[in-house]
Amino acid sequence: MTETQRGLCCHEAGHAVVAWSFGVPVIAVYVSFSVARGWQGGTKYYWRSRALHYMDRATSLAAGRAGEELFDCPAHYSAWLADLSEISVLLNANGISEDEHWARVTEARECARLILKNHRERAIKLVNRLAEAGHVGDAEFLRLMTK
Ligand SMILES: [Zn+2]
Repeated sequence: MTETQRGLCCHEAGHAVVAWSFGVPVIAVYVSFSVARGWQGGTKYYWRSRALHYMDRATSLAAGRAGEELFDCPAHYSAWLADLSEISVLLNANGISEDEHWARVTEARECARLILKNHRERAIKLVNRLAEAGHVGDAEFLRLMTK
C-alpha cells in the first residue's frame, strides 16, 4: 500500500466518522483502483445530510482533508479540491459571499479536526480496515464505531 492509498483511506475515514458523528447513516466506505481514474475513494450515505445545518455539512465535507492532516497521511490533492468545490456550492446556496468562504472553510476544517480527535481510536480502526479490505459496509462500520 502506497502513501497515497493510505492517505485516501484517512481521507474517507475522515468523511465517514464525522458524518456518523452528526447522525448521518453510512452505507459504505471504500477505496478502489481503476486504470482510467487511478485510486479513488468514496463514502455512501443513506441520506446525504439534507437535514443538517449547512456548516455541519461543510464540516463533513472538510473532514476528508482533516483526516489526512490529523493522521499525517496526505491523499492526492484533487480529493480535497473536489470537496472544496462542493463546500463552495453549499456556501453559495446558503447566501455566503465568496469573500467569506475561506473563513468558513477554515472553521469547518477545524471543527472536523476536533471531532476526529474525539473519535481518534475509531477513525484509526476504520483507516486500518479500509487499507486492508478496501471496503467497509454498514454493519462493519457500525461495529467499528460502537466498540
Ligand atoms: Zn473527500
